[in-house]
Amino acid sequence: MLDILIAGARLVDGTGNPWYRADVGILDGRIVQCGVVPDRAHQHLDGTGMVLCPGFIDVHTHADRLLERPQADNMLRQGITTVVSGNCGSSPLPVGDMLDKVDAARPSINYATLVGHGSIRQRIMGQADRQPTDREMTDMCRLVEQAMEEGAVGISTGLFYVPGAYAVVDELVEVSRPVAAAGGVYATHARSAGGKIPEAIEETAEISRRAGIAAEISHLKVLHRQGRTTADRAAEILGQIERLRDEGIDLTYDLHPYPATNTSLSAVALPPWVSRDGKRDERLRDPAERDRMRPEVEGNIAWIGGPDRITIAGFAADASLEGKTVADAARLRGTDPADTAMDLVLEGNPRCIFHALREEDVRLFLTGVFGMVASDGGVVPSPTGVVHPRNYGTFPRILREYVRENRWMTLEDAIRRMSWFPASRFRLAGRGLVAPNYAADLVLLDPDSVADQATFDAPHAFPTGIACVIVNGRIAWQAGSDDITRGCGMAIRK
Ligand SMILES: [Zn+2]
Repeated sequence: MLDILIAGARLVDGTGNPWYRADVGILDGRIVQCGVVPDRAHQHLDGTGMVLCPGFIDVHTHADRLLERPQADNMLRQGITTVVSGNCGSSPLPVGDMLDKVDAARPSINYATLVGHGSIRQRIMGQADRQPTDREMTDMCRLVEQAMEEGAVGISTGLFYVPGAYAVVDELVEVSRPVAAAGGVYATHARSAGGKIPEAIEETAEISRRAGIAAEISHLKVLHRQGRTTADRAAEILGQIERLRDEGIDLTYDLHPYPATNTSLSAVALPPWVSRDGKRDERLRDPAERDRMRPEVEGNIAWIGGPDRITIAGFAADASLEGKTVADAARLRGTDPADTAMDLVLEGNPRCIFHALREEDVRLFLTGVFGMVASDGGVVPSPTGVVHPRNYGTFPRILREYVRENRWMTLEDAIRRMSWFPASRFRLAGRGLVAPNYAADLVLLDPDSVADQATFDAPHAFPTGIACVIVNGRIAWQAGSDDITRGCGMAIRK
């Protein structure tokens, strides 16, 4: 007797192969049969007219607020069944404790994590802008080894952020070696998305080559400096990645389908030296230091496309500015945009949405052979405030915009980039395919109506067209209800 039988759906199995019609049987959390299944099960789901596919695996997230909101509805209701957190160099330490807490929280989705190089460097060296001593290097590597033993799936670096920005290649190779030895992956928020992208990609390749590790460029993007757009840069970057792969570098990338990024204002506006030794605020208060950093701040804002492209999204110090741009704030305060940005960082460093990317570049990267889909989002703890719509809509948006409306990719290819490709890349064994013995993480969806509903103006909107999401063989959510089954998800330990 099966637990669940899903009958009559078009099965898109995650491999990229054309769909075929098959009934799928689930028992004890696993897919046990694919094909003609005897019609005996405790629960029956009618898949007529629907597509059945693997649950989506979101390998680039900052999803640690799963502990606050274990139902993770903004992710689950997109069809996401597994997240990889700990990206961009930042993760909780020790990783083992976090994985235990996730299990104790009884989440609706599966959670795996990378260990953050930035978090480890911060622990050992604070915000020192120098190379580590031998002793510090040994201590950092020991923490990496510990994280891998406790179940991390790899290491992440945030070379655009403090303190990761202070690390040079030799250090990054050293910390990656124990990860490579344990079969983990290296995921990087590269040092530049602006003028130095080719160098940033070459640096990633060098780390991969020297440490012998698979490398993933997180949220691949190219910023276009205000007034100096070069249309061909995205194509050049893809060409560079292809050449590196031809040389034998094990390199892939991920991104989401929105032309805007989301991070703290300080990360984008301030050069890394401002935060050296933890003295960011001290320097921001010093008029001479301000004069010194102002040209760089102006340059960084220009790379985003100007202060009117920066929306203040989360700002506890002055919620009245949420939803307004840095240009708006400058007008309200009668200060120039660069000084406004520096003031805002000092007052509480708002999280911002940066409308800095071109739609056509995003499309080129997403349809590139080596690209997978990932949200760069997280668990939204409450349905209020200004958040990036990627948190609610990333995966359905691909299925609507890229598959149904424009046919930029086939349904099978889109699903592959959301399931089997990320699962194999991040070594999530036994997930990402609809096949016997695989974990029963599944999505039943209507290909004719699946669509994101979240927008930049109204981001807290669940997608439509997702009928049912199954996690580890249990129905986690079904259309027509707001009820979410807690405890079907688990911490994944490598
Ligand atoms: Zn990042």
